[in-house]
Amino acid sequence: MRALADRMGRIGESVTSATTAKAKALRDAGHHVINFAAGELDAGSPPSAGAAAAAAAHHERLHHYGPQSGLPELRQAVAEHLDPGDGSVRAENVLITSGTKQAVFHAIFALIGPGDDVLLPAPYWTSYPSMIHLAGGTPVEVFAGWEHGFKVDVDMLERAATDRTKMLIFTSPANPTGALYSPDETRAIGEWAARRGIAVLSDEIYDRLVFSPHHFQSIADLVPELRDRCLRTGGVGKSFAMTGWRIGWLTGSATLIRSIGALQSHTTGHPSNIAQAATLAVIQNGESDWLAKTRESLDRRRQTMLDGLRAIPGLVCLEPAGAFYVFPSVEAYLGKEVAGRQVSSSLELAEILLTEAQVAVIAGEAFGAPGYLRLSYALDDTDLAEGIDRISRLLTTSRPFGVK
Ligand code: PMP
Repeated sequence: MRALADRMGRIGESVTSATTAKAKALRDAGHHVINFAAGELDAGSPPSAGAAAAAAAHHERLHHYGPQSGLPELRQAVAEHLDPGDGSVRAENVLITSGTKQAVFHAIFALIGPGDDVLLPAPYWTSYPSMIHLAGGTPVEVFAGWEHGFKVDVDMLERAATDRTKMLIFTSPANPTGALYSPDETRAIGEWAARRGIAVLSDEIYDRLVFSPHHFQSIADLVPELRDRCLRTGGVGKSFAMTGWRIGWLTGSATLIRSIGALQSHTTGHPSNIAQAATLAVIQNGESDWLAKTRESLDRRRQTMLDGLRAIPGLVCLEPAGAFYVFPSVEAYLGKEVAGRQVSSSLELAEILLTEAQVAVIAGEAFGAPGYLRLSYALDDTDLAEGIDRISRLLTTSRPFGVK
């Protein structure tokens, strides 16, 4: 008898984790690895988080089980934070989860089953297909490369939709591309989904990390008629450098949130009360200065990254409007020789960059987009410059275009 259930055959080790493990092994062996692979900010969390957690650790009430859907005061604070001003998001519409990943998984697991298709715009965050498979559904990828600004439109979605289509995953700003849908683009997609009766999972984890002059607006607020069939996920991990605290949230209609709360009560239960207290402090505090500084410093590094990569012949690198990644196309280098090796895929190029230049990047294959690399620019200025220089030297001294 096989040890594992069938469903485990539908998921594999993520490319992201494999790259991180290889980079760590090189670092442990004494190499100075430049890490463009991380999916988080390079700062500590706002001090209000630590202070609130320290105080909470001494509250006996918080030493014990709490409500399975999260602390009422945190559900209320998240509701106030997300409500567009019309009272459409209340505490009963909010479920507090152990990281945004759990919110996304719960949403997919609760709505999707065998026979259901999920429209998945690609490039996509690496875990969505595995989650859809685990739920028994089928991901239907809709690819939009750099020529489309990494954004799908209604025509592309319409061509991919069938009567089995139950959900659309909509991530803006996106991982791995940093692409942000404009309010008009968002509205058009939301209205299409509402017309078609398709549920939308709007992953808004990067909502606060958007660069001027762009701004974020939720699909649920732009298309009120979608609200009953829209689930939004978010959290404090990315925007407030709090990935390790593991707090996220899911919002939607009170009925759906109650059902998904029952799912949470039978799986993980509520997240740590201490981490919830830290999150409450950060949300109540607003941390607008912290956020403004973070965005400003990311914006500067985004420019350094873009200038550096665009100076390398053959790379095509769009300017991302949000998050902290760039997603250059390395198509020009495929089939060419780099560091004495024939490169047939972006996966191989990422491997060569790591072993020959000690630069960790994530291959586009992890995101359903072969031919691209994902690089985070949330690292210190010296490493950023050094990393770009190493990539440039490795690629250009290999003379992929036969240039002397
Ligand atoms: N959604 C997206 C688009 C992400 O990029 C990530 C993290 N990389 C998550 C969800 C999961 O976030 P968390 O760490 O809070 O679980």
